[in-house]
This record gives sequence, C-alpha cells and structure tokens, in this order.
Amino acid sequence: MVETLFWLVIAVVVAEFALNTTMTVLNIKASGWPVPEILSDVYDSRQYERQQSYSMERRKFSLIASTVSTLVTLAIFAFGGFALFDSIAREASGNAILQALIFWGIFYLISWIVNIPFDIYSTFVIEEKFGFNRTTRKTFIADQFKSLGMNIILLGTLLSLCVWIYELTPDCFWILAWAAITAFSLFIQYFYSQLIVPLFNKQTPLPEGELRIAIEQFAESVDFKLKDIYVMDSSKRSTHANAYFTGFGARKRIVLYDTLIEQLTTEEIVGVLAHEIGHYKHHHIVQSMLTGATTSLLMLYLFNMVISSDVLAAAAGAEKASFHLNLAIFSLIFTPVNILLDILSNILSRSNERQADNFAKEHGQGKHVASALKKMSSKSLSNLTPHPVVVFVEYSHPTLYERVKALTE
Ligand SMILES: [Zn+2]
Repeated sequence: MVETLFWLVIAVVVAEFALNTTMTVLNIKASGWPVPEILSDVYDSRQYERQQSYSMERRKFSLIASTVSTLVTLAIFAFGGFALFDSIAREASGNAILQALIFWGIFYLISWIVNIPFDIYSTFVIEEKFGFNRTTRKTFIADQFKSLGMNIILLGTLLSLCVWIYELTPDCFWILAWAAITAFSLFIQYFYSQLIVPLFNKQTPLPEGELRIAIEQFAESVDFKLKDIYVMDSSKRSTHANAYFTGFGARKRIVLYDTLIEQLTTEEIVGVLAHEIGHYKHHHIVQSMLTGATTSLLMLYLFNMVISSDVLAAAAGAEKASFHLNLAIFSLIFTPVNILLDILSNILSRSNERQADNFAKEHGQGKHVASALKKMSSKSLSNLTPHPVVVFVEYSHPTLYERVKALTE
C-alpha cells in the first residue's frame, strides 16, 4: 500500500506536467493557423510577427519553468524531503501549530527561491523586450518582500486556525475548518481594496469629467448604484490593461487601470464597464463565492478521510502521521481532482463571460466592447488562434473570435 501510494504521487506529478506540456505543444501547432476574417484588423503584418514571437517566448519560458518546478517537487518527494522537513519541525517544537508553520514555511521558502529567477527573467527579459515592462528594480524587490510578508500573514493565519481546530476537535474538524476558511475568505474579499491593494498600488477616485459622467450615466440607465469608481496606478508595473469589480455590498467598487484609460476611448471604457455590470446583474459574484465554498468543502471532506493516516505519511518516508505532513501529500494526490474542478470552473466562467457580454450588447454596448477587446488584445499581443482543446481546458474567457462575433452579429 505504501509503495503504491509512493508511485501514485510520482505519477500524479508527472501527469500534471504532461498535461501542461501537451497544452503548450497544441498551441504551438495552432500558431500557424489563419487569423479569422473578423479579427484581421487586430494586427498589421509586422505586429502579427511580433505577437507570434512573444507567444513563442512565453511558451518556451513556461515549459522551462514547469520542468524545473516539477523536477524540484519530484526530487523533494522521492528523496525523503517531506520526512526531513517533518523531523526538523518536530525537533524545533512540540506544539502542533508551530510544527505546521515551520514545515510549510520551509516549502514556501523553497518555492519562493526557485521562483525568483523566473520572475526576474519574465519581467526584465521577456516583458522588457516586448515593451510591456515598467517595473523598476526597486519596485520588483519591494513587491517580492511585500508579497512574502502578506502570504506569511494570510496563509500562516489560515494554517494555524486549521491546526488549532483539528487539535481542539478532530471529529468536527472538516466542517468547522470549512466555516473558518469561508468566513476568512469572505472577510478578505470584502476588505480587499482596503487591506491588500494599498500594499502594492495607489487607488485614487476617478476625477470629475467626461469619463466619469459617461460611466455614471450608463450605470444609472441600467439601474446600477455605483458610487466608488477608482483609478489604479498599474502603469508602474506594466502596460497590460484591465478593469475589475471588487468587494460586495457597501464596499463594492470599480477599479480601472490607468493603462486602460490611456489605451481606450470613453465609449470603449463604458463598454467594458457595461460588461462588468453584467456580471453583477447576473449574480456571478455570489455564484463564484458559492462554488468556491463548495469546492473547499469537498476538499476538506476528502482531506479529513486521510488526515491521520500513517500509510500516507509512510509513502513520504515519515514514521508517523501529522496534520501538516498529511496535508502536503494530500494536496499532491488531490491534483487530478483539482484539474477537473478547474476545467469545470472554466466552463462555468466562459458561460458567465458570454452572459456579461450579452448584457452589454443588450444595452447598446456590443460594438464598443468588441472594439475595446480588440484593442486590449492587440496592445497585449494576445494569441488570436488558440487551440480549441487549450481553450476548453485552460481558458476562463471565450476566445476573442467568439466574443467579437457574438458582440457584433
Ligand atoms: Zn468578465
């Protein structure tokens, strides 16, 4: 049984790598496909060549990055790293919460260190070469430490909470831990703009003027109460543009990247906003909270079944089960379920995106959304011919082709 479990973990890690590689290879295959007629104005021939070489560089990069992270995971698991970190944690403290923090802290530190060179290469070599990068070295270093600190606090709190509940009442662990995790993530979502974003970006209210008037007029015409419109200084990191809603209830706000305002016309921005309001009107925010809560319930229920299994611990070379060690092995074994859940959530997300586009179209914004999407794709050198299998597995949004076609038909 122990032997079988050991090989199962290895097989799962290799299978995940094989899936990612297959997706990349399929996209390489599809890269020479002809661009659909309705997208022929997105790039001129010189820009299209740039797009092709940008996509190719990103693909090579992600292949190398995923090869390295797969090899590191396999090496740590196969050569007894899990058991070693477990014994370091046990020797350092007799307290289960501290043990869990030390054990996961080691993993976090390793993945942080392994990722830094890739982050540097991606930001300062690839993004730089294609003119997207605006991150200074100072911002980059500050970001690394800020996100390290933030993750230590957020993930550390969650982990401590879960171990504490488990120690307190093992029988009710999964349901209580679920309640705690759900409450915690609702809290974070509610205060996201106030707690998380200010660590990295400045948000300022959109000044009075033509754009603000146009946005407010549209919101009013669809009976949508919108007071808080903010602009975020995302141009300090890159030229990629976006807009999003955050928070809910009284904390609901719309955030526009300053790069979006630079790149799009007023009409196009109103179109993007109409799409976002469509998400609200169709209750997609509530829906995604519910699916998130359901997924974590399923995961905790399954984890609960193996939480004290010595066999699981033995597969990693350790003598005795413990919360932190079993959680680590469980999260590896859980990968196929996770991939399946991701695919399902992408199917749902694409259907939500279609609904939001449709909402915008029904309110006279179809053409503006389409031209905004084309412009944003062009500016960020997006791939116009993704392989359908990749779209099915990985895309949270329908392809540009599908969206433009539906919006302008
Ligand atoms: Zn959307």
